[in-house]
Amino acid sequence: MRILQFLNSLLLKEFVAAFFLSMKYFFAPKATIYYPFEKGHVSPRFRGEHALRRYANGEERCIACKLCEAICPAQAITIEAGPSKEGVRRTTRYDIDMTKCIYCGFCQEACPVDAIVEGPNFEYATETREELFYDKAKLLDNGDRWEREIAQNLSLDAPYR
Ligand code: SF4
Ligand code: SF4
Repeated sequence: MRILQFLNSLLLKEFVAAFFLSMKYFFAPKATIYYPFEKGHVSPRFRGEHALRRYANGEERCIACKLCEAICPAQAITIEAGPSKEGVRRTTRYDIDMTKCIYCGFCQEACPVDAIVEGPNFEYATETREELFYDKAKLLDNGDRWEREIAQNLSLDAPYR
């Protein structure tokens, strides 16, 4: 009999504790967001979709040194280089196979001129595998589109590099 009473009081205590716990979270601000209409905070160090950047005058930053290609552990980057119309060394081909990329950020770390970066964009899911084979035009286009956010993130991160 005493055991039954003890079990009953234990159950009641558990019930009351569970009730108050539920109420606490019922009235707390929601942890979930209404994606894609609402978006969460993205860290300046977030490693998202790759982009090739230009200088403010429109000139490509990349000097075709191939350090990013050499350091990429997934061998996702393919570069071919040659002289541009102005006679300076530039890439004639810059491809990234995004299906191979492991988002380690080594390409960005290795680049001496901050040309290749992993930008803040995380919404680039595709319907076909082929769309994830990025060429130079696509990467430069990403750079043009995200330059403001990329430059801001790089400057926020600069004191810690
Ligand atoms: S993030 Fe890493 S795996 Fe992806 S392209 Fe850059 S170096 Fe290669
Ligand atoms: S993106 Fe940077 S590291 Fe890669 S080839 Fe161009 S300058 Fe060199």
